[in-house]
Amino acid sequence: MSDTFDSLYEEIIRDHYKNPQHKRPLDSIPFVQNPSCGDKVRVSISLGPDGKIAETAFDGSGCSISMSSADVLAGLLEGKTPAEAKEMVHLFLAVLRGERDVVELDKLGDAMAFKGVARLPVRLKCAALSWRAALEQLEKLTEET
Ligand code: ZN
Repeated sequence: MSDTFDSLYEEIIRDHYKNPQHKRPLDSIPFVQNPSCGDKVRVSISLGPDGKIAETAFDGSGCSISMSSADVLAGLLEGKTPAEAKEMVHLFLAVLRGERDVVELDKLGDAMAFKGVARLPVRLKCAALSWRAALEQLEKLTEET
């Protein structure tokens, strides 16, 4: 049973890696880097007139975990308020740090696919990278308002 779930998660991760929906070239945003794996990613978050996140995009290179995590993140944040988005990012990072139970990832759409990664210490930084980048952008957005 758990094998079936693991391969479902792998499938979700592979799909976001191979067919990212939110990847496009970005400028003027610094990369956040994960030297231990060679991943680098930057995240752009723009608000619409209603104050909700209209578009989230990412750019970068790295392993399948880091890149698929960025695509999942981007899809998740669109349509959310910056406060809701921050809460989701904090939850994801808290699960990776082992402070919250992995079942809480069920609240975060495709991010549940990273439940297995949460048990792999060497891949945690890969999965967390884009979420940390998003948090920096969200902090900037909320400072400006
Ligand atoms: Zn990596």
